[in-house]
Amino acid sequence: MKMKKGDIVKITTGKDKGKTGKILKTLIKKDKILIEGLNLYKKHVRPKREGEKGQMVSVPRPIDISNTALICSSCNQATKIGHRFENKKKVRFCKKCKTTI
Ligand SMILES: [Zn+2]
Repeated sequence: MKMKKGDIVKITTGKDKGKTGKILKTLIKKDKILIEGLNLYKKHVRPKREGEKGQMVSVPRPIDISNTALICSSCNQATKIGHRFENKKKVRFCKKCKTTI
């Protein structure tokens, strides 16, 4: 898993193709991420009390990381993530502008 919570990603395929959003959660074992406001599905919520109407709410659904690309916070482009060592620490960097992200 190269992405992490708080990263801005762009969806590269499907109905939300081209849209960007922030990662709310990473599901490491499934290689999926949850993006704020994207890949939504409508969920029906039952009324809590009698006489109330049920509601439709939009809930984000996890999306495969292979269907997303990271947006570099430095060059603002969809990019691939590389890894390198800086001061003996493994860091991520943008393969387009080479900035550590
Ligand atoms: Zn960059």
